[in-house]
Amino acid sequence: MDANDSLRVHSFESFGTVDGPGIRYVIFLQGCHLRCKYCQNRDTWEENTGNIIPISEVVQTILKYQSYIKPSGGGVTVSGGEPLLQTRALISLFKELKKYDINTAIDTSGMFSLTDEVKELIDLTDLFLLDIKHIVPAKSKELVGFSNELEIEFAKYLSDIGKPMWIRQVLVPGYTDSEEDLLKLKDFLSTLKTVQKVEILPYHDLGKFKWENLGLKYPLFDTRTATQEDFERAKNILRNLMYRYNLEILCILCYNRFQPIVGFKPFFIYRNWLF
Ligand code: SF4
Repeated sequence: MDANDSLRVHSFESFGTVDGPGIRYVIFLQGCHLRCKYCQNRDTWEENTGNIIPISEVVQTILKYQSYIKPSGGGVTVSGGEPLLQTRALISLFKELKKYDINTAIDTSGMFSLTDEVKELIDLTDLFLLDIKHIVPAKSKELVGFSNELEIEFAKYLSDIGKPMWIRQVLVPGYTDSEEDLLKLKDFLSTLKTVQKVEILPYHDLGKFKWENLGLKYPLFDTRTATQEDFERAKNILRNLMYRYNLEILCILCYNRFQPIVGFKPFFIYRNWLF
């Protein structure tokens, strides 16, 4: 089995409601090259673990859920970890899904060079959930281990070719919430032509236990969680965008396994660990 015909999977969710339109079958891939200090899924970083599952098997499972996915306007979203680390396999998967006219989305940092392979996958993807880690290069490097040039180029490319995207940014007190930086983010987003939605994801530490289970110190141990007031303030700074985009609030990304219903109290979304 080579990189074209199997996926290295962390977990699945058969009834996702926050990672794209409608009801989504969400595939969380194993492996991530970023090192986000706020990562709520520290257990997805290692690239050589996870379950190796043939794409044919993944497709057959997805087809079982078509009866409620399609009528809802939903589809399949690939998240992580970082999906683009498995670009070749995703090209194979999405080509199969397109035979059944299934909507495809990818949740990514966009921290990748725009190779021919990546561009081929972009063509097969209906929607990108693009996580802008930080609008300031040096602050991006400090927060997630990588400067942001590649993801900025990625966003510009999606805009240039007319590819729809939802922008996400984690609102981390002391890291991404200054007025100056939010205004820079707003200025950049204003230059993009295909943004359909902007989602502010208030930082929380619900994934701290995963670091601790691995015997690791949680990097943001002294950072407070973001509040409703923090969100409202950020929303006001970005408010001019509201005329163009819907501003929605979600609990953190890659954190999409937790969703707020009242305030920031999470409930656990049911997920399938196996088919
Ligand atoms: S938050 Fe997402 S992109 Fe960042 S390290 Fe964790 S899995 Fe990777």
